[in-house]
Amino acid sequence: MSLSVPFIPNVINERSERWLQLFRQHLPECHIAYPADLTEAQKKASEVAIVANPALADLVTLPSLKWIHSTWAGVEKVIPVARERGVPLVRMQDPSLAKVMAEAVLTWSLFLYRRIPDYQQQQQYKIWRQIPLPDINDVTVAILGMGNMGLASCQLLKHAGFRVTGWQRNHNNAAPCECYYGAEQLPEVLQQADIVVVLLPLTADTCGLISRQQLALMKPGASLINFGRAGVVDYQALQDALQQQHLYHAVLDVYEQEPLTPDAKEWQLPSCTLLPHVAAPTNPETASVIIAENIRRYTATGCIPPAVDFERGY
Ligand code: NDP
Repeated sequence: MSLSVPFIPNVINERSERWLQLFRQHLPECHIAYPADLTEAQKKASEVAIVANPALADLVTLPSLKWIHSTWAGVEKVIPVARERGVPLVRMQDPSLAKVMAEAVLTWSLFLYRRIPDYQQQQQYKIWRQIPLPDINDVTVAILGMGNMGLASCQLLKHAGFRVTGWQRNHNNAAPCECYYGAEQLPEVLQQADIVVVLLPLTADTCGLISRQQLALMKPGASLINFGRAGVVDYQALQDALQQQHLYHAVLDVYEQEPLTPDAKEWQLPSCTLLPHVAAPTNPETASVIIAENIRRYTATGCIPPAVDFERGY
């Protein structure tokens, strides 16, 4: 009998149909379907499920579940459900996703370094003014979160000529830039940076981490890019720092409520570029291959890929 693998997307639409098609193409030996299309016996026998943002109720009907595989890299919403259900959670770790994120970080760092917001405004008012450009080697980009996304971004930023510093939890001798660690070294990183890039997961420790106090430590005229999660940065404090022109500009990709509704307060943020969560979208074509490989290895060896640490939250 082939292994039944329930696929639990956020919504069933064209995109989820594409995912399903890819899973079936890359795992022809498995029976992959939405839970509603599986028999009770198939659901009872399922050991692994592929999920986006499942509700606990979705997983309760799968009594033999041994682990779940998320289609996304950010899993703060899945952790409580997986934890409650008592199964390991494997998140998406796709090198091509990290590459796309690095491109986004480089793009928007150059946007800030090259003062594009100023030139856009000058054009609007027909102002001809050349703003002095510092040497790129003298511009420091601090990356908060040196995981898959941070490391790839560091490499591209360094290649472009930026001075890069990194901040993470654990000492990492192999880090390709000057690195700082833990809460006590965060002020030092923030004080030095011209551009701060947030690539942290949302956890109990990072929630509200970039507070009013931390923003005040940033250099006058520095900028912030948040491509991690909204909850890491206090957006009200950010608004004040931008309004008071303590900070030059912010580029945001992530919000408490997505998508932003027309009346969302974020639209009012001054000196801010708002992106609709596009820094590094999961690519079903590459992600489905990775998920298929992980499931195939599990069926062959019983080995579950490295899972999220529920205690630390990432
Ligand atoms: P990883 O788990 O690979 O890396 C997380 C990094 O954050 C690690 O370096 C870790 O430190 C560091 N970190 C976590 N908690 C702390 C803390 N309390 N203090 C200091 N450092 C900490 O994650 P990824 O790089 O794959 O992804 C990062 C986040 O990016 C995701 O969680 C998601 O929220 C976001 N994301 C956003 C996307 C978008 O399109 N906007 C797309 C994909 C991801 P250490 O190395 O010491 O453990």
